[in-house]
Amino acid sequence: MTVLAPKSSLTPLKYKTYIGGQWVEAQGGATFESEDPFSGDIWALVPRCGKAEVDAAADAAHKAFVSGPWATMTATARGQLMHRLGDLILQNAEHLAEIEVRDNGKLMAEMLGQVKYLAQWYYYFGGLADKIEGAVIPIDKPSVLNYTRREPLGACAMIVPWNSPLLLLTWKLAPALAAGNTAVVKPSEYTSCSTLEFAKLIEAAGFPPGVVNVVTGFGAETGEPLVAHPKIAKVAFTGGDASGKRVYQTAAGHLKPVTLELGGKSPNIVFDDCVIDDAVKGAVSGIFAASGQTCIAGSRLLVQQSIHDEFVERLVKFASTAKLGDPRMMSTQVGPITTRPQHKKVLEYIAVGQQEGAKVALGGKPADVEGSKSGLFVQPSIFTGVNNRMRIAQEEIFGPVLSIIPFKDEDEAVAIANDTIYGLAAGVWTQSIRRAINVSNAVRAGTVWVNTYRAVSYMSPFGGYKSSGIGRESGLHAIDEYLQTKSVWINTALETPNPFALR
Ligand code: NAD
Repeated sequence: MTVLAPKSSLTPLKYKTYIGGQWVEAQGGATFESEDPFSGDIWALVPRCGKAEVDAAADAAHKAFVSGPWATMTATARGQLMHRLGDLILQNAEHLAEIEVRDNGKLMAEMLGQVKYLAQWYYYFGGLADKIEGAVIPIDKPSVLNYTRREPLGACAMIVPWNSPLLLLTWKLAPALAAGNTAVVKPSEYTSCSTLEFAKLIEAAGFPPGVVNVVTGFGAETGEPLVAHPKIAKVAFTGGDASGKRVYQTAAGHLKPVTLELGGKSPNIVFDDCVIDDAVKGAVSGIFAASGQTCIAGSRLLVQQSIHDEFVERLVKFASTAKLGDPRMMSTQVGPITTRPQHKKVLEYIAVGQQEGAKVALGGKPADVEGSKSGLFVQPSIFTGVNNRMRIAQEEIFGPVLSIIPFKDEDEAVAIANDTIYGLAAGVWTQSIRRAINVSNAVRAGTVWVNTYRAVSYMSPFGGYKSSGIGRESGLHAIDEYLQTKSVWINTALETPNPFALR
């Protein structure tokens, strides 16, 4: 299979979407545009799916679940298909990375490694496919064999945001397929193209038609009818709080199980016994990597008062060297903001921080970058003098804007860290093993990193405490989110007991 990289051109590439094993247009040929966040070019046209395409995709996913080759395939063969998909990801990693960089503005320097790493999720969960076991229960009744079966749920909706399209899709798709489910994927309207390119690999790997379907489109037009669709058995959603709540409510109306991966305002806590150079790099990685457009951004930097001034000085000096530029260049460290509404939102929050009385220690403005015509860059920005009640300390900005909050001691650090509605991640910088363990235990977050930041793996569970979400992705137990348990009772008695009594 050859997948051709689009060449830079003013004629946008026209995509089709993948439903029931066919490449199709949306009804009436409707499309929407995808903008390259660096050049500002409209580089792709994407099918604008609505209810008709959602119906077709949900029907196809349901059909593939209940009948046909996927429904009867052995778990081992399912795992082998996933393994083949992993191999194809590795073979096409450069191409997928190019598409993601173009569609999203993510850095090529990050994406090459990230796309290759995706394959591991398909290998890991593919390996798990034939290890999903029930149990024989030593039941407390005579003449009965009781055992459990772990069964898939059905057609699962997978709704993904724009900031890491293929990674966040993979966190859902790999365990869902391993468990024997089928999928209807809805990527973000801002970054649909990498998912459509990825669907070509699903086809090439030999997944039967209907096992994975893609509906491209907007939240209200495409996402809502998908969540509400009677043939969709489960919804896995990653995105912002407002849409997450809406998805949860819609799914509740149809009594569907939901997993939610939502926002964060993660504390990155720097104690005075840390290795300062490491913590400076950790702070930068926490907020300026991916231009701060990550749910795990360490957007609240809590710094112990005794080292506050020295730390801020070293951090500002280091962060001011961050190289903004063309995300395709391997030397670029900070790329553009991915979408126009997000760019506006980041600048609005910078204004809010100033109005609240915080001091801009670095940046604070849009940035001009050579070669970019999109106008979507923001300077890496650092606020000092922030207190935790300010909006810039409480609300997710999702951009390269850091709020630095001083603290006195361990108790105060933990109190500030936990004083938010979120609980996605946290960082702790210290050389004390006692402090590392105690603070990690006390912080209410789904992931805590000690002397590192922004590490994820297919082997380790990821998800939010509090308003950051429901459920876990990655790690052994992620597969449980896509399984249900059946209890089977087999009577082995020769005579039927009293039919009017509970057995
Ligand atoms: P968003 O909520 O605007 O959109 C996410 C997806 O949901 C998109 O595909 C969108 O079209 C769809 N959608 C929107 N409204 C919908 C509805 N009513 N019904 C069904 N689908 C709907 O989020 P975004 O701006 O694309 O992404 C940024 C957000 O995602 C941030 O808040 C970030 O923290 C969060 N996020 C969380 C994680 C995590 O793992 N916790 C990871 C990455 C991003």
